Amino acid sequence: MQGGCYCGALRYEVSGKPVFKAQCHCRACTHYAGGAPNLFMAVPEAGFRYTAGTPAQFTRDVDAKATRDFCATCGTQLVSRRKGMALVMIKVGTLDAPEDFKAPRAAIFVGEKQPFHQIPEDLPQFEGLPPLG
Ligand SMILES: [Zn+2]
Ligand SMILES: [Zn+2]
Repeated sequence: MQGGCYCGALRYEVSGKPVFKAQCHCRACTHYAGGAPNLFMAVPEAGFRYTAGTPAQFTRDVDAKATRDFCATCGTQLVSRRKGMALVMIKVGTLDAPEDFKAPRAAIFVGEKQPFHQIPEDLPQFEGLPPLG
């Protein structure tokens, strides 16, 4: 799979299967997604690489739990990495074919969800981070 930012300055390539697919309702993701939950898929770090451009990065100093890669030109956030996890969380809207994501398998951080967020009835829900691996 391939993807990139809105302006095309950053391009990436993913090999291997996603190990997790979810929608995250946490406050930070709500910021980054513009109000909606953040739909992402997690792939092993070794299966992700940039093929064009160098991303700008942001780590919030208060908790320093996640580092987010974004395009300094168009502002699209592409991936995040969580401290202590060898995974790259890809925002599925940045895939060339977002429909390949198919569907989330869980809703996470629902403890922080907004009243207007939608969660399909049959989707497993987690208050915070689910047990991974
Ligand atoms: Zn861009
Ligand atoms: Zn989140």
